[in-house]
Amino acid sequence: MSLATVQKELAIHGGSPVRPTLLPYGRQSVDEADIQAVVAALRSDWLTTGPEVAEFEEAFAAKVGARFAVTFSSGTAALHGAAYAAGLQAGDEAITTPLTFAATANCVLYQQAMPVFADVLPETLTIDPNEIQSKITSRAKAILPVDYAGHPADLDAILQIADHYGLVVIEDACHALGAQYRKSSVGCIAHMTVFSFHPVKHITTGEGGMVTTNNPEYATTLRRFRNHGISSDARTRQSAGQWHYEMVELGFNYRLPDIACALGLEQLFRLESNLARRLEIAARYADAFGSIDAVQVPHVYSHVNPAWHLYPIRLNLHRLSSTRNEVFQALRAENIGVNVHYIPVHLHPYYRDRFGYKGGEYPVAEAAYERLLSLPMFHSMTDRDVDDVIAAVIKVSEYFSR
Ligand SMILES: *Cc1c(COP(=O)(O)O)cnc(C)c1O
Repeated sequence: MSLATVQKELAIHGGSPVRPTLLPYGRQSVDEADIQAVVAALRSDWLTTGPEVAEFEEAFAAKVGARFAVTFSSGTAALHGAAYAAGLQAGDEAITTPLTFAATANCVLYQQAMPVFADVLPETLTIDPNEIQSKITSRAKAILPVDYAGHPADLDAILQIADHYGLVVIEDACHALGAQYRKSSVGCIAHMTVFSFHPVKHITTGEGGMVTTNNPEYATTLRRFRNHGISSDARTRQSAGQWHYEMVELGFNYRLPDIACALGLEQLFRLESNLARRLEIAARYADAFGSIDAVQVPHVYSHVNPAWHLYPIRLNLHRLSSTRNEVFQALRAENIGVNVHYIPVHLHPYYRDRFGYKGGEYPVAEAAYERLLSLPMFHSMTDRDVDDVIAAVIKVSEYFSR
């Protein structure tokens, strides 16, 4: 057998893989400055509720152009805080997309309210404003759009609907830190915007999250909610020489420590260069796959600058003799760490059992799910890594194409 033949043989069939080690779909990058910042926080007087928290919040708010930014211990905790601040409670409904991480809908359940799903737009896989409209009842209180893969949802249309019915828009921008929508930064557009600092996201604090808002009442409620519902924090009391505090509502301990905030602040300085690198990688993918019949690359509206958290391709299955799962397995065997985002939330056993979903309720999201594959996308990918992904996708899709 010639070398060319050997290399064409899929790794899943015993051929040699495109690369020797697994390339993950997402990964943090932590540099020496990050480590020094964390060490400095560890040597300081405040491991939590100290000055790093406010510094990170102020820098973050400035970055996205919002008046307030409130840290939380995770993106999920931040979603819970936003659901609380929006006033969601038993008997209320909140409309969200099925094509997201379960946390987006779960935060509604934390408040004993009801998540109502609305199907997505076929182009961007973000929530369809017409579908939102059709799901609104007198119980509706909030809309939770998700900026899927880093492409902002149709925010103008969503805010217009919210305005008309008096609803609160909580934008789940866990994929979209640094994205722009009609020249505005994601983070200052919706009533509240939620971010995550999990290691696969644009910046990381290990675990962590943030809510941004321009509304001072939401900001106050969010700060209390993450601190047991107590109306002052330990540092403020210390500097005022006070011991007295009051718990005025039922909150949680959702605080993000100074150690984590020091890391977040340092990571934030590199956001622009990280985004630029992600844009470059997306452009190379779009260029390489544009002419492959078996692959549909993500659509980007011209009024949007996506932040490219994920790079989800859709397989044109009628052009392939294989299923999505076979392509997935074949790419994994080539050491390309592809993934699937997401199993639609209503199809998870918990949602099926509790709410009686059977599948078929959200045809656009469900059909997309059958075809989706997330390719590796993170800012520290080398050109060689990108070449490997492109080579593997071409190798596997040519093999299965018909
Ligand atoms: C990551 C993510 C979350 C949750 O964030 P955590 O920080 O992991 O709790 C919520 N929604 C979406 C869309 C996410 O991608």
